[in-house]
Amino acid sequence: MKLTFGPEPPVKVSYEAIENMTGLKFPWVQQNDDGSKAFYYGMCPECDNALGLINPFETLSTEPHGRHKLEPVQGFTHDLEKILACSRFKRAARSGLVNGCETAVMTPNGRSVRQIVTENEDLLIGIVTEVTGISPSLTLIRALFRTFFDTPLYLRPTITPGNAPWLLFGALRTRPLHGQIIRTESDTAKAILRKVEAARIGRYSRLEARPRHWIDIRFTLYRHRISGTDPPCETINFMIVSKEGATGDRTLLEKSIRLRPESFLRRIKARENPTPRGSRIINIARAELQQHIAQHPI
Ligand SMILES: [Zn+2]
Repeated sequence: MKLTFGPEPPVKVSYEAIENMTGLKFPWVQQNDDGSKAFYYGMCPECDNALGLINPFETLSTEPHGRHKLEPVQGFTHDLEKILACSRFKRAARSGLVNGCETAVMTPNGRSVRQIVTENEDLLIGIVTEVTGISPSLTLIRALFRTFFDTPLYLRPTITPGNAPWLLFGALRTRPLHGQIIRTESDTAKAILRKVEAARIGRYSRLEARPRHWIDIRFTLYRHRISGTDPPCETINFMIVSKEGATGDRTLLEKSIRLRPESFLRRIKARENPTPRGSRIINIARAELQQHIAQHPI
């Protein structure tokens, strides 16, 4: 483990090292809320995440050592993906998490896409709203994440960090749009209002159906295409489909959306602090990812 934030070589866990190298100061030593218990931390030399120190006083028979913390620890950066990829993260700790473990093969690209989607979700939602006119509720966003992490769309070979916003929204496929905020000036709103008699844009710009005229309006994103090479033209098909009673699906709107991965990556680089809503979205994403990883730690 390391007891410094610099590039120094790792040291063996011992009370002497802890005392000399950290001065027993925050964040290396932290108290619980009532100050009755102290916790000692080190840092993993490979993944730079916090390690909880086991037997720091060398009073027990176990050899003093560090154990990766799966929850964020104040004063340390926390990157769950890196912990799971870390060669020092013990299999035993992993198996304690396993619950119906899946065998999907995680790739470095998949990991990085998952991380980018989680940490930039507010930007992603913003881009999709700009282009489609649909501003999903926090409840819907939570459901999106659950679907997104459970069906490993991000393992597709054509998925890159730049086109990830659309990938996430691909998970919307079968979600009804009722109750969601839709910009009245958008093509989406115009198509729905023109073709579905029972629909209207109500209070707070939410899509409503008239009483007893429930119509399931679906949002579908598929047919991802990359053509040409210099620069490649990347598109995805966007469809709004309605279903009413026993009748089949009816397409209300279909258009090809040009993805601009390089512009999305530029926005990630230039990003400022998220808005309060943005922070809530990111926290939802993190919570869903943690829950997913706890059940499928691969
Ligand atoms: Zn590590």
